[in-house]
Amino acid sequence: MCEKSGAKRVFFGNSGAEVNECAFKAARKYSFAKYGKGRARIISLNGSFHGRTLFALSATGQDRYHKYFDPFVPETVNAEANIKAIERAAENKACAVVIECVQGESGVNALDKAFVKELAEYCRKNDVLLICDEVQCGNGRTGKFFAYEHYGIVPDLVTTAKGIGGGLPLGACLFFDKTENVLGVGDHGSTFGGNPVACAGACNVVERLTEEFLLEVTGKAEYLRAKLAKIDGVKNVSGIGLMLGFEADKPVKEVAAECLDRGLLLLTANTRLRLLPPLTVTKTEMDEGLAILRGVLAN
Ligand SMILES: *Cc1c(COP(=O)(O)O)cnc(C)c1O
Repeated sequence: MCEKSGAKRVFFGNSGAEVNECAFKAARKYSFAKYGKGRARIISLNGSFHGRTLFALSATGQDRYHKYFDPFVPETVNAEANIKAIERAAENKACAVVIECVQGESGVNALDKAFVKELAEYCRKNDVLLICDEVQCGNGRTGKFFAYEHYGIVPDLVTTAKGIGGGLPLGACLFFDKTENVLGVGDHGSTFGGNPVACAGACNVVERLTEEFLLEVTGKAEYLRAKLAKIDGVKNVSGIGLMLGFEADKPVKEVAAECLDRGLLLLTANTRLRLLPPLTVTKTEMDEGLAILRGVLAN
């Protein structure tokens, strides 16, 4: 993973939420060691999703996940995806900003390129760590090893999970130049983190994510996007690579249920539908899926 990303070290956990906890703790320690108290704030974006443990949930910028669970972890603040809003939210108290380059749960929204570049610059200038949550958009999903590569930035911490274990429970927090030595022995840990079975799965996944394979992903994505956009009742196809969202002219839950009945598994994402096909999907399978969706939307 380090070879493919330029990261220096990796901490392994068992899920996305868990490695986000690791990144947030690392950010707080980085800041505390350098500046002392008063700089513990984690800023995340409106519409973000970072997981269901309490710190990750506190950072999640969607109220629909928050019901029942307060009080939340202090110094977790949400902001609009523009640099003025980030500055306002930071108030010189922030140690990190966390983003998903393509927000999954809230509707498959790719962040604006100019904003992400500005944010990276802001973070560098103010020694605020930039964390990319690549739990959903990472591991080849967008046609790059990590989605942030589309944005021409280098983050300080990257978290990933979901696809990395190929179905086995594994999460990874990647540490880059600035953060390489932040966590020492005993600062953080996990009983099952880095267990050999899950890691064997991940080794296989990472080895298979070659340049050639990623180009295939991009080609499949172009094909699927073009066909999807032509289906009657599909609007505003969004996302990058094989991470696709769209609006339907029917209630999304009904569309998803009807598709499932007919053998096509797709997800809802807020008011939109979401397609995250396996990266190994074939053209025949894509055609089959598109035909099912066409049938459901025409019905
Ligand atoms: C799914 C997801 C998580 C949480 O991962 P779990 O493995 O379910 O804990 C965190 N961030 C993003 C962007 C996700 O899509």
